[in-house]
Amino acid sequence: MSVLRPQPRPGVLEIEAYVPGKSKAAGAAKVFKLSSNETPLGPSPRAVAAYKAVAADLQNYPDGSASELRAAIGRAFGLDPDRIVCGAGSDDLLNLLARAYLADGDEAIHTTHGFLVYPIATLGAGARPVAAPETDYTANVDAILAAVGKKTKVVFLANPNNPTGTYISFDEVKRLHRNLPAHVLLVLDAAYAEYVRGNDYESGIELVATNENVVMTRTFSKIHGLAALRLGWMFGPAHVVDAVNRIRGPFNVNAPAIAAGVAAIEDLDHQERAREHNTRWLGWLNQEIGQLGLKVTPSAANFLLIHFPQAKGRTAKEADAFLTARGLILRRLGPYKLPNTLRMSVGTEEANRLVVAALKEFLGPWAQ
Ligand SMILES: *Cc1c(COP(=O)(O)O)cnc(C)c1O
Repeated sequence: MSVLRPQPRPGVLEIEAYVPGKSKAAGAAKVFKLSSNETPLGPSPRAVAAYKAVAADLQNYPDGSASELRAAIGRAFGLDPDRIVCGAGSDDLLNLLARAYLADGDEAIHTTHGFLVYPIATLGAGARPVAAPETDYTANVDAILAAVGKKTKVVFLANPNNPTGTYISFDEVKRLHRNLPAHVLLVLDAAYAEYVRGNDYESGIELVATNENVVMTRTFSKIHGLAALRLGWMFGPAHVVDAVNRIRGPFNVNAPAIAAGVAAIEDLDHQERAREHNTRWLGWLNQEIGQLGLKVTPSAANFLLIHFPQAKGRTAKEADAFLTARGLILRRLGPYKLPNTLRMSVGTEEANRLVVAALKEFLGPWAQ
């Protein structure tokens, strides 16, 4: 390679660019996109109205500190708005945290099948991603702790994790934190917190509130149904908030997103409907797909990880082609090192029933 042209920093060209879920199915009359964990209920009508109302003022820069939105989030969760930073999706915040806390040669830990944004953000910051093995597709605190070394600066943990759907209990998160060196930043990504029903779960608020080295990130892309707007937030110690505020884009969150976010966070009925829908259909899908003889990893989020047999004609790749031809788009997980699985977002009743029927047809005599 010629040195007589600009070179990106070390690590950048090692990044496998993130591949979003497919949204097209050639030839299918109707398409059900179940590949990106979007909510089947859509956003709150109040959020849509608030978004539209901003259309008359697009010439104005947004409030760079997103004060109204931080205040609304603060009220909803009982948090100090000064300890909140908003971002263009939680992706923005995860990248800002990597940029603020990682330097060349540092290490950041994620779990084997952890969210792909972590190694991407880590490599983009010039640091090395280190994968800690999981147990039964679930984060293993001992394995994460064993991966911590002198160069470790950040631990990224999605809880629940995407694409596995599994989570670890608050006791386990606390044990992880307790055994981390004080200078290591623990990033708890709670993108799916609203869906979790287990009473041993906590999203991270309590740990952030009482420690100097824990941050929690949240998103408006999942239960709030605002993925298109790119909106997320983090709650952190004052010194981390200060560091992220110094490097973030001065207007990283746009005005329609701020307006829609305020309305969404205040629409508790809509959130509850989305949560109820998910609980009902997650359970149903788990049972129905399990009864076909396929292994399903127990999920606490709004999607399921379905394992396919290695048998020719019954593999995940072939299932994907079969489903896609019928307009049912699930997510293949090769980049997540899960080539024999498909991830399915919980959809509308219609979509869920169609997937189960199609899987049954696909498996044929193989199904139990
Ligand atoms: C979907 C998801 C997010 C949300 O990302 P946004 O940038 O806010 O849309 C964050 N973390 C995980 C693990 C996710 O699956």
